[in-house]
Amino acid sequence: MHRKPHLPHKVCAHCARSFAWRRKWSRCWEEVRHCSGRCRREARRQERVL
Ligand SMILES: [Zn+2]
Repeated sequence: MHRKPHLPHKVCAHCARSFAWRRKWSRCWEEVRHCSGRCRREARRQERVL
């Protein structure tokens, strides 16, 4: 049987790529806005500059 994993997706607020749900975000998926820690850090740095 072919079964597609049905995971929620979001678009990264920094690099605009779509990324899939990860287990590590199971508790904070609502708050996740970036695909990776790196994007989160970059976004924060830009916020400061602006
Ligand atoms: Zn990203």
